[in-house]
Amino acid sequence: MTEPLIHLESIVKTYVMGDVEVRALRGVDLDIDQGLIAIMGASGSGKSTLMNVIGCLDRPTSGKYLLTGQDVSKMGHNELADIRNKVIGFVFQSFQLLTRTSALENVELPLMYAGVAGRERHRRAREALERVGLGGRVHHHPNQLSGGQQQRVAIARAIVGRTRLLVADEPTGNLDSRTSVEIMALFQELWREGITIILVTHEPDIAAYASRVVVLKDGVLRSDVEQQARDARAELATLPPPEVLT
Ligand code: ADP
Ligand code: MG
Repeated sequence: MTEPLIHLESIVKTYVMGDVEVRALRGVDLDIDQGLIAIMGASGSGKSTLMNVIGCLDRPTSGKYLLTGQDVSKMGHNELADIRNKVIGFVFQSFQLLTRTSALENVELPLMYAGVAGRERHRRAREALERVGLGGRVHHHPNQLSGGQQQRVAIARAIVGRTRLLVADEPTGNLDSRTSVEIMALFQELWREGITIILVTHEPDIAAYASRVVVLKDGVLRSDVEQQARDARAELATLPPPEVLT
């Protein structure tokens, strides 16, 4: 058997604030291979902490984390940054785009850090923007784009490397319900193309589009269920048409 993409074993994360310890994760065991996985749970249950550990943005206090078979719990900062750049893309609730640069330049940024040369960088960034349906808006700046379009730029930026894993903390949290379903339809396409997507959501309506739902409570897994994902593309056809954007 091959290694799962993600293997978490007895993951504990404790934040120390003065003389107070906050046990954000209290022993999480989780294997994730492929799929569109929704992480749910009440505010403060440890969702963001878990995403930060999975995304190699933060290290667990104890426990073992194997990503593509490599033990990241033992890696130093540089090694972590390296594996992050190579396999993981991030999407946030607030998009986190650079406001004074074009969609194209935003998407090129991770390639610039990876040392990809100009022409190849433009080509790949354009391709990623086409993949998310923004091929016609590559020179627009974020303030000329709707929230849904901005999130698409962020998703293009997240997949422009050779991303196998996309980590998204409440990616539809700032979007209206139709736009949220559009973003889920895009995630479902990327999932079918082989990218594993882990997203945090508060909304059962959004989690319905996932192939697996993991619920956290007080830093431990409360449930973990595979399900038939609702088809977001089919759902869109039943919704009123979007507002026309010029
Ligand atoms: P969620 O995303 O589910 O709302 P979090 O992972 O953000 O939960 O937080 C889990 C717990 O850890 C909460 O009690 C929160 O206050 C605490 N926590 C999160 N980040 C930090 C931090 N950087 N420093 C101290 N405590 C933190
Ligand atoms: Mg959170």
